[in-house]
Amino acid sequence: MKASQFFVSTLKEAPADAEVVSHKLMMRAGMIKRLGAGIYNYMPMGLRVIRKVESIIREEMNRAGAVELLMPVVQPAELWQETGRFDKMGPELLRVKDRHDRDFIIQPTSEEVITDIARQELRSYKQLPKNFYHIQTKFRDERRPRFGLMRGREFTMKDAYSFDRDVATATVSYDAMFAAYQRIFDRFGLQYRAVAADTGAIGGDRSHEFQVIADTGEDAIVYCPTSDYAANIELAEGVALLAARGAATQALTKTPTPGKSTCEDVAALLGLPLTQTVKSLVLATDEKSESGDIIKSTVWLLLVRGDHELNEVKAGKLDGLKAGFRFATVAEIEDHFGCKPGYLGAIGLKKPVKVVADRTVAQMSDFVCGANEADFHFTGANWGRDLPEPDVIADIRNVVAGDPSPDGKGVLAIQRGIEVGHVFLLGTKYSKDMNATYLDETGKPQLMVMGCYGIGVTRILGAAIEQSHDERGIIWPDAIAPFSVVLCPIGMDRSEAVKEAAVRLHDELQALGVDVLLDDRGERPGAMFADWELVGVPHRVVISDRGLKEGQLEYQGRRDAEASKVAVADVVAHLK
Ligand code: ATP
Ligand code: MG
Ligand code: MG
Ligand code: MG
Repeated sequence: MKASQFFVSTLKEAPADAEVVSHKLMMRAGMIKRLGAGIYNYMPMGLRVIRKVESIIREEMNRAGAVELLMPVVQPAELWQETGRFDKMGPELLRVKDRHDRDFIIQPTSEEVITDIARQELRSYKQLPKNFYHIQTKFRDERRPRFGLMRGREFTMKDAYSFDRDVATATVSYDAMFAAYQRIFDRFGLQYRAVAADTGAIGGDRSHEFQVIADTGEDAIVYCPTSDYAANIELAEGVALLAARGAATQALTKTPTPGKSTCEDVAALLGLPLTQTVKSLVLATDEKSESGDIIKSTVWLLLVRGDHELNEVKAGKLDGLKAGFRFATVAEIEDHFGCKPGYLGAIGLKKPVKVVADRTVAQMSDFVCGANEADFHFTGANWGRDLPEPDVIADIRNVVAGDPSPDGKGVLAIQRGIEVGHVFLLGTKYSKDMNATYLDETGKPQLMVMGCYGIGVTRILGAAIEQSHDERGIIWPDAIAPFSVVLCPIGMDRSEAVKEAAVRLHDELQALGVDVLLDDRGERPGAMFADWELVGVPHRVVISDRGLKEGQLEYQGRRDAEASKVAVADVVAHLK
């Protein structure tokens, strides 16, 4: 490829709204271009990286026996109504109407559609197991799209779905995907860790996140350097456990009145340890009738990590109604509503409603629910005192580095990560809702057992850069670099020898399948080098008259401090 035929567009300064280094560098390297909040054009330079990421994923998914198909971005609401997610998902789910006023969604994930395919196509046990995947555009109306491709609203995901006869075989499918993910992330050349994650209502131990290690990551992961123990912090701190076990339903007996309370009040009332990282937070969600009357209110007690930002809150009302009371994790709430706490949509409601913000929470017995505006909470809602058993509560703890590992094989360390992949044994959650059955040997219909497996294709770019960059720019791992080798001829327009050597080397490398770019733009050396260091091409070869006279070229790896001389005759072998 010749640079003059390609499109190179670099910037000296990153735009002001780019907060993290990967976002800044991607903008400066001309890889992406902002179209709207969380919506980007993938420019030619960035698209090359995306395509490389995709092709590695595709190869390994195929190798693992998954079958590629492609499901639509725009999906009819009916399927999403079958699982209840059309209403439950909250504002993260983008809903649109067609000209006939029919509801559609822009897919944030594809469980519904794949389950619909499976229930029609997979009829016999003989057709199982089956694993379908696609690499497709997703849309999630994230509350805070940020960090460029890392938390976009429109992004690309590889999502796979396995269908099995029973849990035992589904576990085999899960483990095969887990192994495929390890190969994928190994091939990317990224430093990562697979960590256990919350399995929520499904239980069991088969949910893992693949986290790229980076200090700027939004997630915290807990691991033991001397054993295999690794979990995300929510799981490590037992918050998930609490969520899974604690549940109680209480009738609301009083009409609440506005008042004030704090996180500490709630913790004291509940007897919960309020730690640095775990803070309680209560929110109430209302279910309203057509006419806008509240018919049911549910109070959720969330255990939130201290660094969660919860600012967007609105006032709400609880009127002596029946209410469900249970414990849930942020992840569970997120899953349930499809968005971060702080901007939840209530069950049965399409609009975001009230949420309790950090430090402005609830009182038991005289329960404060609300805190939807500063100093505007509802007190006096009597929830009784039917709390989870003490042993469940005791599971919440603040994990710090140096704590003993739960497996007894060492001490814990904590590091930050970026979630780039997630594998999850779903069980029969979707097949039950959508009646996806197959006929077993005896001709009896059985629910299919499912797993789902996601990789954030576009997020990988951001994660790779967060992990690997310097003051000059991006340092791509070879496998996903937009170009492997850049040839930088000095004075190509003046020197026939330079031109001839550059073109010959370019053609030779290209014939060998090396992803090479010849910078024939005629830029001055300084500007040329700066561009390719910014873009992060792993290998650079400088071709100059002076070098050629000595029969030499200059080679510099992107991580090398200095260039080294390589004989013209050896350079191809050097780069292969
Ligand atoms: P997060 O916790 O970061 O919001 P998630 O748990 O909601 O992610 P999943 O539903 O597990 O995401 O989706 C699978 C993968 O899709 C994630 O592991 C992540 O790599 C990617 N992904 C999710 N949301 C986004 C986003 N807004 N922008 C880019 N990639 C995303
Ligand atoms: Mg999310
Ligand atoms: Mg997540
Ligand atoms: Mg996830």
